[in-house]
Amino acid sequence: KLYNQIQDLRGNIRVYCRVRPFLPGKVSSSSSVAGLEDRTITVMTPSKYGKDARKSFTFNRVFGPLATQEQVFADMQPLIRSVLDGYNVCIFAYGQTGSGKTFTMSGPTVLTEEGLGVNYRALNDLFNIQAQRKETFCYEISVQMIEIYNEQVRDLLQNGGNKKVEIKNSSQKGLAVPDANIVPVTSTSDVIDLMNLGQKNRAVCSTAMNDRSSRSHSCLTVHVQGRDLTSRTVLRGCMHLVDLAGSERVDKSEVVGDRLKEAQHINKSLSALGDVIASLAQKNAHVPYRNSKLTQLLQDSLGGQAKTLMFVHIAPEPDAIGESISTLKFAERVA
Ligand code: ADP
Ligand code: MG
Repeated sequence: KLYNQIQDLRGNIRVYCRVRPFLPGKVSSSSSVAGLEDRTITVMTPSKYGKDARKSFTFNRVFGPLATQEQVFADMQPLIRSVLDGYNVCIFAYGQTGSGKTFTMSGPTVLTEEGLGVNYRALNDLFNIQAQRKETFCYEISVQMIEIYNEQVRDLLQNGGNKKVEIKNSSQKGLAVPDANIVPVTSTSDVIDLMNLGQKNRAVCSTAMNDRSSRSHSCLTVHVQGRDLTSRTVLRGCMHLVDLAGSERVDKSEVVGDRLKEAQHINKSLSALGDVIASLAQKNAHVPYRNSKLTQLLQDSLGGQAKTLMFVHIAPEPDAIGESISTLKFAERVA
C-alpha cells in the first residue's frame, strides 16, 4: 500500500538498467562500461568523441554484472505484487540481441534454481501470497502467452504456436486477445510446463527462419482476479511480461527482402513503444497507441493507473558501445 502511494507521487513509469557479465571464455580486459552505481551507469563513448570520453545516465535502479536473479527480482517485487491489488503492470525487457533480456525474464538456457527469471519468480510470488491470503481472498490466476512477429500476433499456447490471433481492445471478457488460449495456473510447475511449451513452439517456428525469437516480441500475460470473501468485491489486475525483439539497428545496405521487412517492423514497434511511454511520462493528452500491434495490445495496461517498468539491458563488450548508447538514450527518453 505504502509503495503504491509513493509510486503515485513519482509517476507510474520506472526505468531499470542491467549490465550482463562477459560471457564465459570471452572475458575482455576492456569494457564499454566505465562505472556503475546504484542509480547511475557511465559508459565510454566511441573514440570519435575524443579519447576516454564518458557519458553517464541515471535511472531508478542500475544492476551490475554481479547482480543475482534474486536481487533483481527483490527490487521488482512490490510492483509485481500490486497486480493483486488490482493494478495493471507492464514489464519490458529491452536491449540488443545478446544483452540479457531473456536471461532476466526467463533465465539461462540451462535453467537452474538460482537462474530462474522474473517470469517464474513473479508467478511463484503471486502463488505464495494467494496461499497466505486464502482465508480472506479467493484469487484466480491464469496466463496467456503470445508472440508478435512482423506485426502479426500468434498464440504460443495453441496449435504449435502457429495460430494467428487478433487484438480486440474492448472484448467482452476484458481480454486484449480473447482468442488466445488462457490457461488457469495454480503452481510453479504448471507455469514451468506452460513456459516450456511456449518456448518450444517459439523455437519450432523459428528454425525455418533462423532464430526468429530474437526478432519477435514475446508476451506472457498474467491475469489475476481476486474476490474478497467478506465484502464479495472483485478486483482484477493483469501483468504483461514482455521480452522485446532485439533493438539493434541493421544496416539497410546489408539486408534485403524478409530480413529488411523484419527489421523495419521491429524498428517501428520499438519506436511506437518509446513514443507511447514518453508521452505518458510527459503527461501528454494524446498517447499514440495505434501505431503498432504491441502498443495496441498493451493499451489498457499502459497509462492511467497502470504501472510500467522498462528494463534495459547492456552488453559490456567494447564493440557493443554504439548499441549500448542507443539503448541508454531510449531509456533516458522514457524515464
Ligand atoms: P537476449 O535475450 O537479449 O538476446 P540472452 O538473455 O539470451 O540475450 O543472453 C545472451 C547470453 O548471455 C546467454 O548465454 C545468457 O545466458 C547470458 N547472460 C545474459 N545475462 C546474463 C547475466 N546477468 N548473467 C550471466 N549470464 C548472462
Ligand atoms: Mg532473447
